[in-house]
Amino acid sequence: METISTLIDEIFDIKVKDIKKLDGDINYSNLKYALKDHNGKRFVLKIYPDHDELLLAEEESRIFNEIGKSLSFKVPHTIATSGGSLFFDHEMGRAKLQYYIEADLMSDVKKTPEMLTSLGEVTGEFILKMRQIHSPIFASRKLFWDAQNAVKSFYKVKYITNPAKRKLAIYFFDKFRTQILPIQHELRHTIIHGDLNDRNILIKDGKVEGLLDLGDSSFTPCMYEIATAMSYAMMSMENPFEEFFPLLAAYHKVSPLQRREVELMAAAITTKLCISVCNSSEKRFLKEGSEYDLVSEKPAWALLEKWIATNPAFITNQFLKATGFATEDTKSKRDLLLETRKQVAGNSLGLSYKEPIYMKSSAFQYMFDAEGNRYLDICNNIPHVGHCHPLISQAISAQASELNTNTRYLYDGFTDYAEKLLSYFPPQLNKIFMVNSGSAATDLALRMSRTHTDRNKVAILEYGYHGNSTLGIEVSSYKFDGKGGSGAGSTVIKLPFPSEFGGAFDSSDQYVQDAIARIKSSMEEGEKPCAFIGEMISGCGGQIPLAPGYMKALNQFLQENGILTIADEVQTGFGRLGSWFWAYEMHDFIPDIVILGKPMANGHPMGAVVTTSEIAARFSNGMEFFSSFGGNPVSCVVASTVLNIIEEEKLQENAKVVGSAFKQKLIALQTKHECIVDVRGEGLFLGIEFQTSAGEPDSKTTSIVKDKLKEQFILIGTDGPFVNVVKLKPPMCFDLNNVDEFIEKLDNILSAI
Ligand code: PMP
Repeated sequence: METISTLIDEIFDIKVKDIKKLDGDINYSNLKYALKDHNGKRFVLKIYPDHDELLLAEEESRIFNEIGKSLSFKVPHTIATSGGSLFFDHEMGRAKLQYYIEADLMSDVKKTPEMLTSLGEVTGEFILKMRQIHSPIFASRKLFWDAQNAVKSFYKVKYITNPAKRKLAIYFFDKFRTQILPIQHELRHTIIHGDLNDRNILIKDGKVEGLLDLGDSSFTPCMYEIATAMSYAMMSMENPFEEFFPLLAAYHKVSPLQRREVELMAAAITTKLCISVCNSSEKRFLKEGSEYDLVSEKPAWALLEKWIATNPAFITNQFLKATGFATEDTKSKRDLLLETRKQVAGNSLGLSYKEPIYMKSSAFQYMFDAEGNRYLDICNNIPHVGHCHPLISQAISAQASELNTNTRYLYDGFTDYAEKLLSYFPPQLNKIFMVNSGSAATDLALRMSRTHTDRNKVAILEYGYHGNSTLGIEVSSYKFDGKGGSGAGSTVIKLPFPSEFGGAFDSSDQYVQDAIARIKSSMEEGEKPCAFIGEMISGCGGQIPLAPGYMKALNQFLQENGILTIADEVQTGFGRLGSWFWAYEMHDFIPDIVILGKPMANGHPMGAVVTTSEIAARFSNGMEFFSSFGGNPVSCVVASTVLNIIEEEKLQENAKVVGSAFKQKLIALQTKHECIVDVRGEGLFLGIEFQTSAGEPDSKTTSIVKDKLKEQFILIGTDGPFVNVVKLKPPMCFDLNNVDEFIEKLDNILSAI
């Protein structure tokens, strides 16, 4: 300390009274001291033992000294020696002396809108000044913190141990890859500060007094300066998509952004957040994290989680509004779409809701309309692992740009997927046929059954739905008994639905006996069916489970009589029921044929028939089975990815845990609201049935509930023969907060009816 005082006196003629050692700067391994002279004037002394860092420290001092002269706020000024040099020798390395800026760190004060305005103005002024600076040293840096180099951080997602969080980071990195990267080189570039976090911002009297530290400066798109400031500021905001306004607006006033830059702002901010969480995860994994490395980790994740649950069009519109750019008139666009659709499509192509929703995008368990609203999706079971799961999008894109052809060639995807999927079945179900829809799977399963048995008739369940093909409708009571249908045809034996709740009989056994009697009666007329087809929980029937014991007993009769059992797992399969991967497992029997669809490839059109080698062999009667698209390389890779994600993100387990909490909360609601007469289903495949006080099916309440929930931005389905059942079948990443949001809204709606 003695030597420092002497040195400072010698070089600067400053009489040091007090010296205190401080922590070094964030980006350097320097030594740092706070000095005070006899007049109470304060200084900061920095000593750099590392030669490489010295180069940057010298550049920082040069730039700060140069721009500091004409800025309306302060930056650290390095005091030159009498010889005009900014640095001098110290026994520990090269050193510099700076004036201390009397102010508080922004991290130590309560943030106000005025402070944000001030930060916006200062950032704007700073960037305008930096555009006049020439610095080959900073320009040559390739920092991973710099958003333009986000690609450097992609690999670090592997350090994020929580799969749901990893998915979030990959999702937002994808936005960088697809939205920014292709045009990044066209954006306006300059040297930026690069790290406007609240420990580099000084506050005095509620306003920004100065900025510190060029340790993250580099030559990069200018918009990353404000994007970085926004990312840190928004992390500490309760309502980030409202509270950011003063910051961005003030920046834009001083240093106007281009419309394109504003449109990319969301992707730029989330990219910075992703770099940050990846860095924290890596540091945590390598056990290297300093307090500073990890300080932003929690708020960065929290902001990303808010981000994914907010409509991207809303966020961008907020940024456009803050910068005075016009937003799109989506209302008239929606009206035009509706009008055109009426002209080009037949009326039988239905739309949900009286005021149909113009959807623009979706992510995970959320859907986003053009007007900026976010819907919680409890209706769509096809995006099984979540809407726009980044690994699904990547799989589609990667395989589509590699090879897409048909099953007449050998390729890896088909066999990889076939083996993987078949491993989810018992050994006797060991042959797979791939098609493009549940309907095509139904059709094929029935054709196989007919070929196998040389018989035609099919035993079906009341309310069942199995597809939109001619054969599909023939076996779907939901359709032929519904509006526009002409009743059961001569090729089906319709069996009463074995419901435990409000059905024709009291016990499962009675249903079985009745079913057997009907099939026998047909047999006596010389019309033995080739197969029975049914869902274990009837989706279109209103989420009604088959009575326990029914399938096992019926299957035994069917087996004894050479009638095949087809389990329709189009809705119930792939772990949705939580406790079982396939719904037939809950009934303790093995079907002869299983049909698959909807969730199989998360919305990429794909269906399949899984059966025994015996049935497959009989079907191979000389007529080739070929489907132009069925089992194509892209479909197979996507379907494989679905299985991987189910495992990786433990989605079956999630369906079990979240589904059972969901059901419990619905049952609790039932005790409060008389109109709920039944809560049923398994995992994330649930139903709520409504009844009037007179005991009649209450389609009116059901329809009000659906419309009111839509007004509150929740999507559900309604179904059942009397359309008095609310169907709940969200993407499998649905969480407990989502459950609470639904329960609260439904409770309020029912209380108000
Ligand atoms: N089976 C069941 C149980 C279904 O719910 C559906 C579709 N709703 C199908 C088959 C037909 O599937 P797709 O619409 O893919 O043809």
